[in-house]
Amino acid sequence: MTALWWIRRDARLGDNPALLEAQADGPAAAVFPWSPALRQWSGRRRAYLARALWSLREDADGTIGVRYGSPADVVVTAAREVGATVVWAQREYSPSALREQDTVQRALADDGRELRFEGSPYAVAPGRVLKSDGSPYQVFTPFLRAWREHGWRRPASPADPARLVPLTSDIDLDQDAALGDMQDPLGYPPPFTESAWLERLGDFVSGPLARYADERDVPAVDATSRMSVPLAFGQVHPRTLLAAAEGAAATDASYGNGAAVFASEVAWREFHADVLFHHPDALRASLKRVIPDDAWATGKNADAAFDAWRAGSTGFPLVDAGMRELAATGTMHNRVRMVVASFLIKDLHVPWQRGADHFRRALLDYDHSQNQLNWQWVAGTGRDAAPYFRVFNPDAQRDTFDASGAYVRRWLPDLDTPAYPERIVDHKAEREIALADFTRGKRPSPQS
Ligand SMILES: Cc1cc2nc3c(=O)[nH]c(=O)nc-3n(C[C@H](O)[C@H](O)[C@H](O)COP(=O)(O)OP(=O)(O)OC[C@H]3O[C@@H](n4cnc5c(N)ncnc54)[C@H](O)[C@@H]3O)c2cc1C
Repeated sequence: MTALWWIRRDARLGDNPALLEAQADGPAAAVFPWSPALRQWSGRRRAYLARALWSLREDADGTIGVRYGSPADVVVTAAREVGATVVWAQREYSPSALREQDTVQRALADDGRELRFEGSPYAVAPGRVLKSDGSPYQVFTPFLRAWREHGWRRPASPADPARLVPLTSDIDLDQDAALGDMQDPLGYPPPFTESAWLERLGDFVSGPLARYADERDVPAVDATSRMSVPLAFGQVHPRTLLAAAEGAAATDASYGNGAAVFASEVAWREFHADVLFHHPDALRASLKRVIPDDAWATGKNADAAFDAWRAGSTGFPLVDAGMRELAATGTMHNRVRMVVASFLIKDLHVPWQRGADHFRRALLDYDHSQNQLNWQWVAGTGRDAAPYFRVFNPDAQRDTFDASGAYVRRWLPDLDTPAYPERIVDHKAEREIALADFTRGKRPSPQS
């Protein structure tokens, strides 16, 4: 009996439990629904997805079907076509993905078929790590301890693509990649194949990982893994990352600290996914109300400030370099993400949701839980967030993390020329305003 693998955020052949289950008892076919909902995605993410699927199909000797339509329609039609009574998929946890998998499950059940889940995009699935009283962790450090104690399986062995039954496609992936590029060009396209990312992971663990604990905050140095893009599209599983880092640490003690810090960064990804799973409204709503509603800037001046931030022309070099890196590459170093986000919220007083929306359109590694909860972390509104009164000073951050100036010079060719913009605000004055807002926010409101 043929089974069907519904490809979701797991476009890979390696370490893929859902695909292995689909192939466990015989042949399997594979389908990816190119949903109309993808029109909401930025052009650059759609272009990347088209290339990732193209390369997966190449790796699977052309057998994978990519078909236009809602996931329910595409999956049911493909299941009928190959006579699959069982469909396997990776379980997802964000609010929209949960709704999607419920709809597909119902449509399959109405057609006399079954959706079964295996695996998740996490080493430990959201909702699994709980306190002894059964409630979720609110704070990262105890979550990290419990997450490590829970542990995770070794990566599964790669699937055999020769055992996939061919399905036709009705999507021209080349054309979709070209349209996405045209709508939203990237100056520095990243690699997009599973094998290129695994090679990059190998290079990272055999080199920069040893220095990761010291250098991961320095944006001029190629010291981080860059795995957020393949993680966002499921081309690499986080277990594969953790196993590679552990493997390096086991063979050479000098990697030990780097591997431990690296695992704790991966754990932040798992923590944010867990928080969103328990608080689906965190996509839009602040989890803690620390800033009074009237503190946020609105109107034309706020729009102009937001536009300057988005264009990388605030006159603050580290902020501008980050925003120009984002525009050109679809990514930005983590330290710089924190600085630009803090600047938007605490120097320009623009609500975090507006910044998060811009990141959604610009980031290639965009992920609901990671983006929204990192914004909430910077805003001080998240579960275990930076305190609101911690206001990043963009000049001090530059002196500390880009002391050589190599990062800002790379992205700001106009830096020391008359073309470089004047500062749009006075950081010291805006910091005082942010702190005064915070103090007001702490006072109980007259109604309470
Ligand atoms: C305002 C803001 C928005 C962000 N939006 C996203 C997003 O949409 N998607 C996304 O994947 N990451 C997001 N991040 C987190 C982080 O910046 C990126 O994951 C990181 O820069 C990716 O680079 P890397 O893969 O080289 O990281 P590495 O340093 O090599 O870390 C390894 C992995 O750990 C995880 N990780 C590292 N830092 C964080 C973090 N702060 N939070 C959660 N996971 C982390 C990532 O999966 C990363 O790939 C955001 C951070 C901020 C401050």
